[in-house]
Parts: sequence; C-alpha cells; structure tokens
Amino acid sequence: MQTIATRHEPHTAAKGVVYRTTCQNPGCGFKFDLRITPENAGLLGGTMPCPRCHRRGGMLKREGRLGDRLFGAKLMFRALAVSHGTGEDEGDLFSERLN
Ligand SMILES: [Zn+2]
Repeated sequence: MQTIATRHEPHTAAKGVVYRTTCQNPGCGFKFDLRITPENAGLLGGTMPCPRCHRRGGMLKREGRLGDRLFGAKLMFRALAVSHGTGEDEGDLFSERLN
C-alpha cells in the first residue's frame, strides 16, 4: 500500500486577510470584502477607490478583528478622515507602515 497521503500542505491556501470594508462616502455605505495579500498589501498604506461609488482616495482604516483573518475596516475619505490616530496598533500580519 503506497497510498499514504503525502499531503503536508500548510494552511496557506487562503493567504492574506480579509477586510470587511464599509465605504464611508456619504450616500454610499457599500460593504465589501477586500482581500489583502502580500501582493496588494500596499493598499493598507495607500488609497483605493470604492468599488461601488468609485470615489477615489479612500484610505483603508482597520477597525478591529472580527475573526480569523477577518478584520473590519472603513474606507475613509480625506474629507472625513479628520485625524488618523494610528499608532497603538499591535501590528498583525501586515503592520501598518504609515508614519
Ligand atoms: Zn462607496
């Protein structure tokens, strides 16, 4: 019998984390799941448009952990993002590198 499973796959099938993001553009409020992988982790320090209202310049703000590899987040826009007080983040998978 040589049918011994040779699978030692680590749990990297779904890599990255999911940000359950809510658009903060007034009148939109679209919720979407944004998967952040090492390839697009730059979104965390940059901006992205809302997939629905297409308002550009949305900044992803993490809100807190919802579950395993699942975070709540808001897509903030400059007019709304009065001050961003990141700093006391314990740095997870992709620690935010905003200064
Ligand atoms: Zn939107």
